[in-house]
Amino acid sequence: MVFARGVRKSFGPLEVLKGIDLVVPTGSVACIIGPSGSGKSTFLRCINHLEQISGGVLLVDGEFVGYDLRDGKLYEVKNSLLCKRRADIGMVFQSFNLFSHMTVMQNLIEAPTRVRGVPVQEARARAEALLARVGLSEKVNSYPRELSGGQQQRVAIARALAMNPKVLLFDEPTSALDPELVGEVLQVMRDLADSGMTMVVVTHEIGFAREVGDALIFMDQGVIVEQGLPRDMIADPQSPRTREFLSRVL
Ligand code: ATP
Ligand code: MG
Repeated sequence: MVFARGVRKSFGPLEVLKGIDLVVPTGSVACIIGPSGSGKSTFLRCINHLEQISGGVLLVDGEFVGYDLRDGKLYEVKNSLLCKRRADIGMVFQSFNLFSHMTVMQNLIEAPTRVRGVPVQEARARAEALLARVGLSEKVNSYPRELSGGQQQRVAIARALAMNPKVLLFDEPTSALDPELVGEVLQVMRDLADSGMTMVVVTHEIGFAREVGDALIFMDQGVIVEQGLPRDMIADPQSPRTREFLSRVL
């Protein structure tokens, strides 16, 4: 579960998140939409502590990530502890971010063996199972440059899964793909959602949000303007800002 209450984030004088309240229950999928610059990526990056929040409370499975709260004050935690907590939170980026000098197999076993101390043989077996799950068994020895964008993104998802994450974060995972490759990545994400993975997905794919999302969240200018059941919100948005945004992307 992801629990956010009053989450604030500033970069110097610029307040990017102005009090985010959001609960993503375990096993559910929350889709976040909103205009460019509204703070979607910043919020995702706060969840796994790529950014330190400036205020509020943010918990993943009941634990603080990257900081502690004592007597109402935020404290950074030691690096080793941060690593341990962050390992439970997978992230998939728009730009794939695979290790380009490593094969698909090496990409998949790197973090489990180094961060979690999983024996290589075990990590390899698990990697093979994950590659089968994303339909890429035959690419086990390929380098990222030898794969299409959609294949690279499916490897990136398998790599995130290799750490057995409690939560998976996606930041516009299909935005960099040619249109004909979007479907194969969304299908993998749909299967993951069906398997009960807890997911927070920033996306412009309204169809995906409607079919797969348990909740739809519309962010604008650092606040959640509206959240609800995707079907209801898309059919009948309550806020004029949501309505205006949806009319542009639908
Ligand atoms: P997009 O749809 O374009 O990806 P977004 O909703 O993800 O937009 P963010 O990337 O979260 O938006 O950015 C929100 C605001 O925070 C923007 O004004 C951006 O310039 C600012 N911002 C983000 N990261 C930093 C940073 N490291 N330093 C300063 N400002 C930042
Ligand atoms: Mg973004």
